[in-house]
Amino acid sequence: MQKLPYETPSIVKHTNLLANKFGKSPSRRTLSHIDGVSVAELMERHGSPLFIFSEKRIRARIREAKRAFGTRYPKVQFSWSYKTNYLDAICRIFHDEGSFAEVVSEMEYEMALRLQMPPERILFNGPYKPTHILKRALQDGARVHIDHMDELYDAERVAEEAGQQYEVTLRLNMDTGIYPRWDRFGFNLDNGDAMSAVQRIVAGGKLRVTGLHCHIGTYVMEPNAYNIAATKVAALARRIEDETGTPIATLDLGGGFASPATLHDQYSPGVDTAPRMDDYAEAITDALLSAGFSPQRMPTLILETGRALIDEAGYMAASVVANKRLADGTRAMIIDAGVNALFTSFWYRHNISPVSDEGGIAETTVVYGPLCMNIDVVVPAVQLPHLAPGRAVVLHPVGAYNVTQWMQFITLRPAVVLIRDNGDAVIIRRRETIDDVKAPECP
Ligand SMILES: *Cc1c(COP(=O)(O)O)cnc(C)c1O
Repeated sequence: MQKLPYETPSIVKHTNLLANKFGKSPSRRTLSHIDGVSVAELMERHGSPLFIFSEKRIRARIREAKRAFGTRYPKVQFSWSYKTNYLDAICRIFHDEGSFAEVVSEMEYEMALRLQMPPERILFNGPYKPTHILKRALQDGARVHIDHMDELYDAERVAEEAGQQYEVTLRLNMDTGIYPRWDRFGFNLDNGDAMSAVQRIVAGGKLRVTGLHCHIGTYVMEPNAYNIAATKVAALARRIEDETGTPIATLDLGGGFASPATLHDQYSPGVDTAPRMDDYAEAITDALLSAGFSPQRMPTLILETGRALIDEAGYMAASVVANKRLADGTRAMIIDAGVNALFTSFWYRHNISPVSDEGGIAETTVVYGPLCMNIDVVVPAVQLPHLAPGRAVVLHPVGAYNVTQWMQFITLRPAVVLIRDNGDAVIIRRRETIDDVKAPECP
């Protein structure tokens, strides 16, 4: 056997300008069709840029999630996080699959009612519920999640005035090993604030705690954090039942499961690193099943997962406007969709694929949007072949948060198309007009 020559080990800093050990970056792969529908034809018909959603993918994901949890735990209820994507057509698909509505503001509460959601199927989160809407939600019978002490007093006042005892859920926060810790929402479980709030509610007699809720973060890549959260929340539920005799009917573990998006500084693509739905389900249900609840009285497990159910189902088709060289020689490409439409570009390195194969040599390219702002960087560095002006690209996955966080800045918001299960592509939000933008102004 021949002895290999010694090579000094070296550490090479990962930079997202270079291809990594996974080889070809996804940008070299073309994406010409979505669910069998031609992207070029959709753009011809509905303009550019254009959001495209796949009903097939949405239904596949929510069904997968329901299976992962439903096969492991007897009582599971999903609740669609409106702020992740509150286009009516999208919410309707989730409601059609049996999901409740999870809302975080007065506006979202109204949106859920407009979609004919019965109030008892609306979970009302958020740190600010103006008294009039808190009162309305309690009277309607919505599931109100109390965030802090002042809201608790507010809810007690409403109950007292109405001469009614309302059921509420308490939002909790705790250390689950995930940092930064989201301790600004809800009552802290670790330091005893949560139990004090429960004692206060029981002593007051105006409200009744029937549920516990937490939402530990977003894009949480560590299923074990949910195991810790579920263990702590279940232990508190048992303690409340033991000490106050109040049965806790629902344990809500919130959302935050990672989608296959890739964070800017992440080495491996998100599609390889995001845990599977089964991993999250196992982590949570394992904790609940071993918490010691009596088998006849297992609490209902509620999940409010947002991004993990919708991100992959959303695409953005955009057109190349121009190519140029920056002062240092870096190739730059300008496309007609910027951070105004793709707000999540600030955090995620979206995949970008040419719609058609143009050949040519791929080169590191920075992709800019059309805004006159230096921060309008859609993809900071990606290997792309030369694409002439007018050519199209698809950014993916972009289904979560973009169509709610998009901003009104110097351009009109693009149209949104939904490719139905049967292959029909329907407009679910038309492109904005200048009249849409100007309508609220008072000349
Ligand atoms: C935003 C939010 C969700 C959904 O979070 P994802 O990270 O999109 O899964 C669920 N519950 C609450 C309370 C939220 O604020």
